Amino acid sequence: MDNEIAISGTGIAGLAAATAVIAADRNCLLFGPSTQVMRGGVQLAPNGWAALSVLGLAQDVLSRATRLHEITVRSLINSATLARLPLKDVYASVAQADLANIFKQKIEHSDRFRQTNTTIKQTSLINDGVNIIGKDAGLYHVAGLVAADGVAGFGRTFISGQSEAEVKASLTTDKVALRSTIHLSDLTNFFSQAVSNLWLGDGVHIVHYPIGDSSNIVATMPKTLAYSKWQERLFQHNSPLQLLADPAIEWTSTPLPRSSNSICWRRGTVVLAGDAAHVMPPHLAQGAGQSLQDAACLMQSLTQYADITSAFAAYARHRSGAVAKITQKADISGKIMAFSGLAGKLRNAVIDLGDNHLIEEWLAEVWASDPGLHGQDN
Ligand SMILES: Cc1cc2nc3c(=O)[nH]c(=O)nc-3n(C[C@H](O)[C@H](O)[C@H](O)COP(=O)(O)OP(=O)(O)OC[C@H]3O[C@@H](n4cnc5c(N)ncnc54)[C@H](O)[C@@H]3O)c2cc1C
Repeated sequence: MDNEIAISGTGIAGLAAATAVIAADRNCLLFGPSTQVMRGGVQLAPNGWAALSVLGLAQDVLSRATRLHEITVRSLINSATLARLPLKDVYASVAQADLANIFKQKIEHSDRFRQTNTTIKQTSLINDGVNIIGKDAGLYHVAGLVAADGVAGFGRTFISGQSEAEVKASLTTDKVALRSTIHLSDLTNFFSQAVSNLWLGDGVHIVHYPIGDSSNIVATMPKTLAYSKWQERLFQHNSPLQLLADPAIEWTSTPLPRSSNSICWRRGTVVLAGDAAHVMPPHLAQGAGQSLQDAACLMQSLTQYADITSAFAAYARHRSGAVAKITQKADISGKIMAFSGLAGKLRNAVIDLGDNHLIEEWLAEVWASDPGLHGQDN
């Protein structure tokens, strides 16, 4: 189809980018499986909600989300409360599956949308667009491609010129996130409070918050600490987290990639979006939020410029600059959260003494809406 824009990847970034393309009155061809299991949830900060608002979906997502009213920081060692940050602007958690379904409902009803369940094998740039060969051996011709196919997808290798193995090796770290989703009825009332909880320990930190009728729990630690019975060592008696030591609880282990912004976001009429463009540790809870900002910016660029090369160039220029600061802050946050021994004790003491101001100042820049975004729900 003339002027059709392809999207690769059916994660949050790909579905948000497809929504953006259709909202900008362009035809969209989505590559990737139409059904994909999405577990757990994400917290979305004010900048994520601003992006959803630009995409016209903030109210829909909010209706499935859990508003959180405070961030509480505690010591994992003695359970002392170190800081409490009231959340004035919209900050809420949402199940990834719910977020994905809202995007799907929006795009699948559009006659500008079509999807192929195959993934991309090869791409070549030609004068009037992009030729794509799918893993189904099908040949597709499109005007442009938004590669939102994750940290180790096709997009990163195509833009960087690195092999898949080189990309994977450059992203490996020694850290792991152990995730579990537990029904609130199996937990104490402590877990039901509309609070985003951060527990800082010795080289380890825990985040938990409610999503609907469940609690989403993430424990981040070096791989070397995640050996058998790690729960018993971490969740001690007389801590509100004690019941998480139950060996019957199932945890899913996810290796955490090293943070990395793609140096280049665009090659001709191929651009990156989501984790493919910006790999960041989850310590600022910004990966999905930044993917939403990518989509909002893409929509605005495609609306502003009729020609795809100009639209993609404006998008890549704007987003690569904005994301760099966030990735850097996520990295520094991760290092501070990973402090152990004396450094860990000092960190906790400084947060305790600093009241909310330290954390508020740190997050204000991250949560500020991307200056390139404007517009409201339609
Ligand atoms: C422990 C943890 C906690 C997190 N918490 C938060 C949080 O609270 N808030 C927040 O904002 N973010 C959070 N994040 C980050 C967030 O989950 C990610 O940033 C986001 O899900 C990335 O979405 P994506 O679509 O870019 O990538 P992915 O979800 O990886 O999707 C990429 C898709 O592309 C597909 N693909 C791969 N190759 C190809 C190909 N050749 N052709 C077509 N498709 C292909 C893949 O199959 C996949 O479906 C967290 C991350 C972790 C690990």
